[in-house]
Amino acid sequence: MTSKIKLHVGIDDTDSAEGMCTTYLTYIILNELEENGIKPVDYPRLIRLNPFARYKTRGNGALSFIVELDNRSQVEQVEHIVLENTEKYAMLDGVNTNPGVVFYEGEITSQMREYAKNAIYNIYTIDYATDFAKKIGARIHKFKKGRGIIGSIAAISLELTDETFELLAYRTPENFGTKRQLDDESIFRMNDETYPETFENIDFEQNYAAIEPHTPCPVLYGIRGNTPDIVLKAHSIVNSLEPVAGFRVFRTNQHTDMHIQEGVKIANMRDTGCYMFECEVVEKPHDIEGGHVFFKVSDNTGILECAAFEPTKSFRNIIRKLVVGDKIVIYGGLNDNHTLNIEKIKVCQLATEYKYSNPICSCGKRMKSAGKNSGYKCPRCGRKDRDATKIKEELPRDLKPGFYEVPVEARRHLSKPIIRITTEADQRLKNMKS
Ligand code: ATP
Repeated sequence: MTSKIKLHVGIDDTDSAEGMCTTYLTYIILNELEENGIKPVDYPRLIRLNPFARYKTRGNGALSFIVELDNRSQVEQVEHIVLENTEKYAMLDGVNTNPGVVFYEGEITSQMREYAKNAIYNIYTIDYATDFAKKIGARIHKFKKGRGIIGSIAAISLELTDETFELLAYRTPENFGTKRQLDDESIFRMNDETYPETFENIDFEQNYAAIEPHTPCPVLYGIRGNTPDIVLKAHSIVNSLEPVAGFRVFRTNQHTDMHIQEGVKIANMRDTGCYMFECEVVEKPHDIEGGHVFFKVSDNTGILECAAFEPTKSFRNIIRKLVVGDKIVIYGGLNDNHTLNIEKIKVCQLATEYKYSNPICSCGKRMKSAGKNSGYKCPRCGRKDRDATKIKEELPRDLKPGFYEVPVEARRHLSKPIIRITTEADQRLKNMKS
């Protein structure tokens, strides 16, 4: 028996702000392959890469899938279908649309896994990705500048140490760009019946269905969850008032915190890197123009400016409650200005905050200062007390230790929702007890 040829296909950078979506192109390609009797061996993968990549359209996603083929002519057939559809559907007129397709035969090596991890942590150049493709013997196809090869190599190579699934339902072409027609009540019901195994369905703060994109792309909605079964169940509950062209379940690294590096000290943190670290508040949060809240933290190796930006809405109220001395764990990424955008925090230990006020006179009235080093004087009965000092009072703290995260609307695709962290912890506890 002759062995099968394992072909990895990676695709990236085919959309623009005006339309399209690389998941949709993948959906079209997989449909055509299936019509030709070629089924992917697993779910296609939607891999999110460095959230600070400069030329991303939205969430810096790249796509990949695997097919097992009988002979070279089938390999040629697959490559033809992939390239023809990329040429046909990619928004090649977009200034920043530079598609890249990669074909790779065989097993993923540790060097490739390392490349992929660093495409989440760091920023690569097109030249670096081109050289890397040569080194691993991958066939690359660049459209225009072909920047997409950076992401497409990562999409085929990433090892998923944690994963979630997203079911993406697509619109029929005549509806692209028009207002989506979904029965909102069915989305809230779907959330009631499937949360927390599905998540990010509703933004309760703004009370709207977050599964629906607000861009002209072909996606009707996307349901995210822990397993393929749960996103399929959720999909069966959602009622669309417009025709659904079709759907696909994608295996993803979304909501896994895979972008977060642990164990890096403030002194060594670099722009466009995302980190999780323990620190202490050293400057009280304050608002700046535009509704952004800024404050500073330290871990004894350096001081870092952190921000909860305006789109994080009510999360800023939590940040505003922090005081100097609070011990917290921060999750977030450093932008080009070396300011850390916070995704979530864990408040570990609250500092005690004091208020200092003038002493109370024996007549019950609050005293006033009698001048420098002269003690206090009562404005009502006139009594003087040279030895009186200010009263130190502990202020109540309106903040409890625990996790806090930005609302769904402002959440990064890669950010692990607190509900995934706590349900995992519950599961570990249950496993330990049983
Ligand atoms: P969408 O999420 O709507 O599909 P997008 O946000 O994924 O869009 P792309 O159109 O894929 O945006 O553009 C992202 C570009 O950035 C791609 O060309 C990709 O190859 C590139 N890229 C991805 N990761 C990195 C990285 N670590 N360094 C440099 N470039 C990167």
